[in-house]
Amino acid sequence: MSFRNLLRKVFCKSQEIVPGKSIAGCGHKFIKQKEVTALGGTITTEVPVDGNGSTPYCHSCLEKMVAPCAWCFEPIFIGSPVTLYMIKEEEFKNKYGFSGQEMEQYKKDGELPDGSIIYATTNGYLQLVGCGRTTCADTGADYCGIWMPPGKIERFTSLLEVAVQSKTGSAAASDLTDPETFKAI
Ligand SMILES: [Zn+2]
Ligand SMILES: [Zn+2]
Repeated sequence: MSFRNLLRKVFCKSQEIVPGKSIAGCGHKFIKQKEVTALGGTITTEVPVDGNGSTPYCHSCLEKMVAPCAWCFEPIFIGSPVTLYMIKEEEFKNKYGFSGQEMEQYKKDGELPDGSIIYATTNGYLQLVGCGRTTCADTGADYCGIWMPPGKIERFTSLLEVAVQSKTGSAAASDLTDPETFKAI
């Protein structure tokens, strides 16, 4: 079972943590539900608990996996939908006054100085990890992945991509945060 499915399952169903065994895979003690605070934002996160009463990561480890949105700099928490909008590398570089050498280093690191993430670089474009807030994502149809531990995108085909592939020009999902409910119409 993928971590996302596990998350989804546990978000929907309440499971008890076995007393005395509540150590996460990261080695830290955990409780099922707790606030995660990072980059000035706070959300309450319920971690997925497996049959052995464990979970991959505790809340403080999840906190360290939060990345800022490349566009609005608000936190992208684990489990949040993300966009992968592109910008011309030259335009971006000039906007922030990065030197060519700095830009090359950031691309190599896959990370910008503020901690936001460069997902890919192609043909002079940077594809940056953005948040799914309505102020940042043009539409939920642009969501193309979920921010997952330890700080990477679990990609799924965005509604837009589905629409393009199916050539129907439109697509629907009963739950925008659940890629498996996406279907072209
Ligand atoms: Zn931990
Ligand atoms: Zn944003």
